[in-house]
Amino acid sequence: MKAGQKKRLFGTNGIRGTPNVDLTPNFAMEIGQSIGSYFHTGRIAIATDTRLTGAMIQAAVGSGIMSTGTELVSLGILPTPGLQFYCRTHSIFGVMITASHNPPQFNGIKCIDKDGTELSEENEIGVEEVYFSRKFTVPDWSKCGTLRQDNSADSAYVSAIIGRVDASAISRSNFRVAFDAGNGASYQTTPAMLSDLGAQVVSLNCNADGRFTSRESEPKPENLASLLELVKSGQFDLGIAHDGDADRAVFIDEKGKFIDGDKTLSLIVSHTARKGDTVVTPISSSDCISEVCDRVGARLIRTKVGAPIVSRKMIELKARIGGEENGGVIYSEHQVCRDGAMTAALVLQLMAKTGSSISNLIGELPKYTLTKRAVHITKPWSELLLSLEDEISGKDVDRMDGIKIKEGKNWVLIRPSGTEPIVRLYAQGKEEKQSKELADRYQNMLEKLMK
Ligand code: MG
Repeated sequence: MKAGQKKRLFGTNGIRGTPNVDLTPNFAMEIGQSIGSYFHTGRIAIATDTRLTGAMIQAAVGSGIMSTGTELVSLGILPTPGLQFYCRTHSIFGVMITASHNPPQFNGIKCIDKDGTELSEENEIGVEEVYFSRKFTVPDWSKCGTLRQDNSADSAYVSAIIGRVDASAISRSNFRVAFDAGNGASYQTTPAMLSDLGAQVVSLNCNADGRFTSRESEPKPENLASLLELVKSGQFDLGIAHDGDADRAVFIDEKGKFIDGDKTLSLIVSHTARKGDTVVTPISSSDCISEVCDRVGARLIRTKVGAPIVSRKMIELKARIGGEENGGVIYSEHQVCRDGAMTAALVLQLMAKTGSSISNLIGELPKYTLTKRAVHITKPWSELLLSLEDEISGKDVDRMDGIKIKEGKNWVLIRPSGTEPIVRLYAQGKEEKQSKELADRYQNMLEKLMK
């Protein structure tokens, strides 16, 4: 950390840590005190994903919040977008206990603003300042906050999504859907939504197992072997999987082929955006979305990587759709944050309305492939970047976030992770061969530079 730079607790996705190591009950309680003192609001909502330590961290954060004189509204296990929907519709701040797609030994604390978006960095710094200065609000015992349970959040969330799509058109299609919750927070909400939309659902891993014993939480092909196998049987129109807190959705086509999140985003944009609409996506999404926006006459705005950045830009520009290449789609008519179940409902709607199979719909998109890698780094990113600059001098680069190097119609984006000692590498090609070649070449270059 540079001199003068303040220590940060919140990363790109809230505070992450290992319970009983760095995310101790005492620390979580003090974060609760800081949140309650900073917002100084009458009540705060709290929810968790299914992690084994969720109840423990929730109790500690909740205790800290109540000690500041704030009523705690406990919503139980919910997808992160379920809490976000509750916050916006009740105009209440929220705290989500989750580590999203990270392995089960981790957990995290994420704050949600009254409008349902992730808390702004400015407010996160405000919470941190209370934490570091220890200026906690400590009222008399008679003014301590109490605990209220609200069990209505999950059904209200599911109903809201159903209300945003043509439920009767979807129901008439009698879709056969295989769904994998990965033991995560969507284990009840997404199956309920799919059933309400008239789908015949076969559920996988829809038990709230906080050890994630059935599969790893990140919904990538290597973690979805059972779902891929099941859909390959030919008995389903669509396979759906979420990450642990269900703000993202990925899909499997009727032949059992994994659909990259980059394609899902472009598909939804191609059928949902209208002429004159604004669409927002980070620079990590492929140019497929640029071509799709040109086709429909929508304006595309690129941002730095990070879902909260996309959400904020969408609010600023009143954008209809946005999202990331990892299955995080934001449909602002419902709410301006990533929402896995909403994404699934939109995909079913466009299948119902077009009468086409998901593989045909994907086949109509401009052809682009995105190869993604995570490269472990042994040198600080700033040092690595300097050496990298020497290697690529003379090339066309974009420095909006990390470094994006253009090679004709293809490009590679290299950026440091906000949470781990890795750099993320995204390579775009028209064909998979090209994107892999580009990824290999830059990965080798990085590895050579670290020696
Ligand atoms: Mg997530």
